Amino acid sequence: MKISNGNRELVEQIRLEGIKNKLVLNAILLVDRANFVNEQSKARAYLNAALPIGAGQTISQPYVVARMTELLMGSRRRLSNVLEVGTGSGYQAAVLSKIADKVFTVERIEELYLKALSLFLKLNYNNIFCLYSDGTDGWKESAPYDGIIVTAACDVLPEKLLSQLSNGGNMVLPLLSDDGSYYITVLHKEGDILSKNLYDSVLFVPLLKGKE
Ligand code: SAH
Repeated sequence: MKISNGNRELVEQIRLEGIKNKLVLNAILLVDRANFVNEQSKARAYLNAALPIGAGQTISQPYVVARMTELLMGSRRRLSNVLEVGTGSGYQAAVLSKIADKVFTVERIEELYLKALSLFLKLNYNNIFCLYSDGTDGWKESAPYDGIIVTAACDVLPEKLLSQLSNGGNMVLPLLSDDGSYYITVLHKEGDILSKNLYDSVLFVPLLKGKE
């Protein structure tokens, strides 16, 4: 597979910003971000910036994609079953497909769901499965997941998702904190115990109810 110079520079940039996990850096390297941005944004595809993808939504900043993926993995070298809520452009799912056996991703906007679905088919991402649905309900049929990632801002914890997280699994999401800001938050399930840790402060489009 040919890796573009742009993607190499992008990986170097996020490494300098503090992403250390080599498996994550390699996953970012293997996914050409230019495939996931609109025609108008191609020139900016390799910048470490969020970009518009249509329907009022954005493809996340690559550093944030890498950071959330790193936190999702924790000390594990590979995941088996991962759920993503908020397919958007499909970029985060494509990155996850390099570190997980299967990726299940849910999107509530039909236009974005259809676009991502055809992109995954065209680019042969055979271990990504898409669903057009309200992702706050998760995807019960393929649960439990050893990793769950939400890529839209949550004002409250989506409780239903937690019930689909396997023992020992991590759930990573941008969650509203007491200080009024959103932080990348990691919930780790160990038996009956749920631990919670806050990381970078981030901006995401909101998690919404229902379908469009
Ligand atoms: N992971 C995406 C980021 C997309 S932005 C990427 O790599 O490009 C967040 C996405 O979450 C938007 O597409 C938005 O429509 C979607 N979203 C918001 N609320 C949702 C919900 N309840 N269920 C599923 N998707 C949702």
